[in-house]
Amino acid sequence: MTSGRWSSPTSLSSSSSLGLKEEIRSQATDLGFGLVGFAPADPLESKEFYARWLAHGYAGEMGYLHRRLAERTDPAHLVPGARSVICLGFNYKQPPTAPPTPLHGHIASYARNDDYHLILKTRLRALWNFICERVGGSANGRYFVDTAPVLERELARRAGLGWWGKNTCLINKRSGSHFFLAEIITDLSFPYDTPAADHCGSCTRCLDACPTDAFPEPYVMDARRCISYLTIELKGYIPPDLREGMGNWIFGCDVCQDVCPWNSKSAPATEPTLKTREGLNDPPLLDLIGLNQEAFNARFRRNPAKRPKRRGFLRNVAVALGNAADPSVIPALRKALIDSEPLVRGHAAWALGRIGGEEVKECLRGAMEAEEDSQVRAEIDAALAASAVGPPK
Ligand code: SF4
Ligand code: SF4
Repeated sequence: MTSGRWSSPTSLSSSSSLGLKEEIRSQATDLGFGLVGFAPADPLESKEFYARWLAHGYAGEMGYLHRRLAERTDPAHLVPGARSVICLGFNYKQPPTAPPTPLHGHIASYARNDDYHLILKTRLRALWNFICERVGGSANGRYFVDTAPVLERELARRAGLGWWGKNTCLINKRSGSHFFLAEIITDLSFPYDTPAADHCGSCTRCLDACPTDAFPEPYVMDARRCISYLTIELKGYIPPDLREGMGNWIFGCDVCQDVCPWNSKSAPATEPTLKTREGLNDPPLLDLIGLNQEAFNARFRRNPAKRPKRRGFLRNVAVALGNAADPSVIPALRKALIDSEPLVRGHAAWALGRIGGEEVKECLRGAMEAEEDSQVRAEIDAALAASAVGPPK
């Protein structure tokens, strides 16, 4: 989050604000923002919906979502005197690839390159500087890329960038939903765009396809069940009943976007900095489970996958290995059972329990003898019980 500020706010005439709007749109497009819309900076209509969502506990451990509610629901709390929000969308869609084998991890398509916050911030700063130059010292405003308490999807909906789909993503008829959102809140006023109509119709593809049943109803997501939350935001143990549904997703999940018909015809991103980075397109799980801290840092430098830290990321990898249920991964999981992080050891035990067999039982019993952490011991116990039942069909 950052801001730009000029001395004395003034009003522009309606013809000059229309001209400025078109100039901003053109400049934003040149900077790579394929979607640009203008909305009034009024308090958000979705305030009560958001409060209900929080009250249901759907935010899980994301305590920060409960804080600074006034700023989240009223742009004027972030920029005094705010009149407008310039909403921007930046395409990140990656070209389709062959589905990975179970022994390869899947990383959400937005996270296979350098952290987009860094990329977009530079472009936003350039756009804001352009606006300030054009109005000759009479604008006050701040720009944001997912870094401030802003309900940006709702602002973008109001600015006509798209509608809030049943999968809770913002969807644009032409561009689908694979775009990052950013916004400038300013005290300049503009002619505003019209909010987009809902085009989900009777479709339920996203709701039906979610592997962990994260939609209690259309347009509402229980983040606690979403693979993106489980692999990125959740710090501790993944609830056992959700692990199988995670399949081989090791950071984020694209399923409810991939099945959306509005994403089938949208064009891939042309931005070179968003090209998938070497080693992040469906990496072999066995390459990842053995990463030490130094290798993890090097591999995910400037990449969003750093966020769950090594222990959270390897936890995800262990779950994916368990879901592969392939005996060839037993030696790697055996090593993970002596990892320095209890979180990794606990999920490695679960993964071994999924594979089952005499070799697994022997290695779990050996681990139990040495294990002192009570939660890991409980995981080993459960894994031994699962091994007795045998691998899932
Ligand atoms: Fe379900 Fe994946 Fe969509 Fe989350 S991202 S709601 S897990 S399909
Ligand atoms: Fe809407 Fe269908 Fe897309 Fe879900 S898959 S967001 S219901 S159009």
